[in-house]
Amino acid sequence: MGVWEQVGLKVGLEIHRQLQTHKLFCSCESVLTETDHWTFSRHLRPTRSELGSIDQAASEEAKLKREFTYQATPDICLVEMDEEPPHPVNQEAVDITLTIARLLGSIPVDELSFMRKIVIDGSNTTGFQRTGLMAFGGKVDTPQGPVRVSTLCLEEDAARIVETDHSTATYRLDRIGIPEVELATEPDIHTPEQAKEAARALGDLLRATRKVRRGLGTIRQDVNVSIAGGKRVEIKLVQDLNSIPLIVEEEARRQYRLIHVAKELETRGITKEEVLAHKDNIIDLTEDLSNTSSKVLQRALNNNGIILGVKLDGFAGLMGQKGGGSPVEGAPESWLYDGKRLLGPEIADYAKVKGVKGLFHSDELPAYGVTPAEVDMVKGLLSCTHDDGFVLVAESPDIATAAMDAVIERSAMAVDGVVAEVRKPLPDNSTQYLRPMPGAARMYPETDLKPLELDRDRAAQIDGDLPELFGAKVVRYVSEFGLSQESANQLVFSSDFEMFEDLSKDHDPKVVTTTILSWTSEAANEGANTDHLTTDTLDVVLTALDESKFAKEAVPNVLVGLCKKMDEDPTDPTQALEATINELGLETVDDSEIIAVIDEELQKRLDFVKEQGMRAIGPLMGPVMGRLRGKADGKKISQLLKQRISELT
Ligand SMILES: [Zn+2]
Repeated sequence: MGVWEQVGLKVGLEIHRQLQTHKLFCSCESVLTETDHWTFSRHLRPTRSELGSIDQAASEEAKLKREFTYQATPDICLVEMDEEPPHPVNQEAVDITLTIARLLGSIPVDELSFMRKIVIDGSNTTGFQRTGLMAFGGKVDTPQGPVRVSTLCLEEDAARIVETDHSTATYRLDRIGIPEVELATEPDIHTPEQAKEAARALGDLLRATRKVRRGLGTIRQDVNVSIAGGKRVEIKLVQDLNSIPLIVEEEARRQYRLIHVAKELETRGITKEEVLAHKDNIIDLTEDLSNTSSKVLQRALNNNGIILGVKLDGFAGLMGQKGGGSPVEGAPESWLYDGKRLLGPEIADYAKVKGVKGLFHSDELPAYGVTPAEVDMVKGLLSCTHDDGFVLVAESPDIATAAMDAVIERSAMAVDGVVAEVRKPLPDNSTQYLRPMPGAARMYPETDLKPLELDRDRAAQIDGDLPELFGAKVVRYVSEFGLSQESANQLVFSSDFEMFEDLSKDHDPKVVTTTILSWTSEAANEGANTDHLTTDTLDVVLTALDESKFAKEAVPNVLVGLCKKMDEDPTDPTQALEATINELGLETVDDSEIIAVIDEELQKRLDFVKEQGMRAIGPLMGPVMGRLRGKADGKKISQLLKQRISELT
């Protein structure tokens, strides 16, 4: 039994992907802009849902009383600003989502009704996000087995964050209202690698529609992870496909550590109530530690801060790294000895939300300038026995008190093991506590929009016109265009099949393949900014090649020159190409000029040619090509060379 089976790993994905169409509830274009804007401000009030309850996460956030500033850009209208009700839903967005549903084998709903999902971070001017369930069921295949899809929703994207601190946040409204699908899977994924494969397969399927947006910020992937005895933890905004397995593994290990801590606390007979009772037992140690040589503590004291301490009964050894024992190689037990700290970082994360930069716990002291004598003194003042732990926090009185309450609350939760919560990934693939798991009271019906009946004729039309999936595409590229399996795979999966399909309509598919897979990267290796080489630009280049304005051999050089010209002026590829051809002296030569060069070279080696006959072709190609490089096609030269030699001999 593998380690993932032993720990009972379960992973589900939630993928958000923007659709390539105008906004969901108005006809504004879905474009992001960095140009001018004007701003307005709003305060967020805790939104009381029509069902009468306040979401736990919402009330948590509302305690912070934040003011939100919105940047209105020229491309938006009153809908994005919530000064006008939503217009009827974008029908193209509905069609794209239906297409995705059919590709997944999901069952569309009969009627699309939008719900309001409470959003408390200010990223929606309305205070909620509109989301509509479009389909349920279906699956996606991975090499490790199928992963069922639970729901497919169509929703509006939120505003994008410009800057934020504890009391304010500024958002730009260009992104709000861009349609996106939200696709959630069942927790059918059982290994970290399968999580990556499932995310990849779903991404490929969405791209196959050619109707999803690409690039940074157009995809958001959340990963839900649990192990047996743990709880579902949602890791938000995992950017990179390759980091998914690493993040999943790290989260499984973290949950394993927390389950171990809970078992230990149970063995030691510690209850939640006992831990929480220490809220009345927070000790002010400011006077006692006033002469400490710890820079961290001194900095707080110099800023009129206080030092608070609390005892945690029975927590000794459960906050720092696990020591002693002998881990078994390959068994999950060995995870406890991987050098990671147990409860310390969890408690610190909760305290940080209240505004402290960090804390000290007993398992890491003496250190950081806190002396053994000071540790003994603190233990004495807090009445700690050998089995107890303690935590120190140093900050301004308000923040220190709130942080210490959070420390005690989080420590009490440790009795239950893993806490269901939302976390964010860090650059080292570990995660950090972000907020509690949103409760169930987050949704209520959207009253400004009438439910939309999903008409059967339209569904049938979509069924009859489904896009080709990537696997089928590879097979077709090989059979229809004679491409190698490797090139077809590369074009479809890791390169730009849209570009290939568009260019192949007017140009030789093999030349298009070489252009995309080889020549473009050759140009990039020469330092060219190949972002200029869009489908339109390459169409201009390939058209000129078709018209023999230069030879195939010259294409990489042409692309380099063209990109340089377009660095100066990216607007006119035709003009840039003409200038490049002139600059490189690439105007092609006709047959008579080629023959003239061939004859000159033949004359120089007449004896050799007469002696060798056709075998002289090889040795002669070099010098002739050298004189005609980029001006004539190699095949043409070889053909004319053969002809002249046969005439001579
Ligand atoms: Zn608009």
